[in-house]
Amino acid sequence: MGDKPYFIWTSNIDHHFALAGFNNLLEVEGNWQTGICTAHPKEHPAVDLKATLHEIYEKDQAGNLTEGDLPTCSSCGEPLATNLPGPTFNMDQVQVSAFESFISRYQTKKILVLELGIGPQNQMIKAPSMQLVAGNQQSRYITINKGQLNILAAIADRSIGFSSTILAAFDALITGKGDVATQGPAKSAPQLSPEEKKRQQKVLQSFYPSYTVNKGYQPGELIMYTTIDGKHPSHIHTVQYGRALMYSYGDPVDVHCFTQDGHYHLVKLGLNKENNEVHGFYVEPNTFIAMEDAKGATGFSQIRITLPSSASSELMIPRVEQLKKVFPQQKELIERLTVSD
Ligand SMILES: [Zn+2]
Repeated sequence: MGDKPYFIWTSNIDHHFALAGFNNLLEVEGNWQTGICTAHPKEHPAVDLKATLHEIYEKDQAGNLTEGDLPTCSSCGEPLATNLPGPTFNMDQVQVSAFESFISRYQTKKILVLELGIGPQNQMIKAPSMQLVAGNQQSRYITINKGQLNILAAIADRSIGFSSTILAAFDALITGKGDVATQGPAKSAPQLSPEEKKRQQKVLQSFYPSYTVNKGYQPGELIMYTTIDGKHPSHIHTVQYGRALMYSYGDPVDVHCFTQDGHYHLVKLGLNKENNEVHGFYVEPNTFIAMEDAKGATGFSQIRITLPSSASSELMIPRVEQLKKVFPQQKELIERLTVSD
């Protein structure tokens, strides 16, 4: 690490990063050196069991371990458990807040995410790490995982994957030599001309009338506000990622959902529970949706959409005839809310 600021986030529970002297650490699944009160996991303090575990080991080797040697909570006397995912798990809040302040301080700076041996579909470590890179053009991403690389297209132009052991990849990184299989960086998508951008903007407005986008509260998250009124619905479209939709203010909104497996449902976003309105819901990836003001509304509505910042801006619109075939009962609705080009 040299003298660079760093932070390690890991799902390893062996505590080896800490034992190797790394202090800036978030162990998202805890570690087996920390004891937690089984009766009061939230209220009673966590205990460092390093010395106790060593004593237990020595007594066990000598053959004189008794039940009385099992560690108990110093506040209530109940047994301690190792602080690992389960009913008593309590993520180290000191680590969590150190991580949050590191991210908020550096997420827009020049950062390198160095990912060591994380499975290609990992959602707990890998997905948010790639989103962190996707949200920051100055960042770089190196992933090392033998045989299974997975790099988001959105960050491919500033990523390198090593399909090798960590040792061989480090060797190659340091010496610039070595016989290791690498991938990338790949070319990024071509830049749009100003005219093309303008056209894209216009198209986008028929799906997200009068919208703005902000950076979210979580790294890798974008918040989009879109305003809908009687003349400006959000036409039927889908995207490749999941989105959370929230009522923000104004009139209630009807969200028409056409799922991949052929189901149609109507979700009403608003505040009136008696009218079956909900405040927010999650839209699965690849579900076609359209939003319009609820019947009888005369003003406008604002909807808040949370999406990953790595999301490509690619919108997909349905083939109208095909959609009508799958959803014959919604024929009128489909005709009303598809974009005719
Ligand atoms: Zn206790």
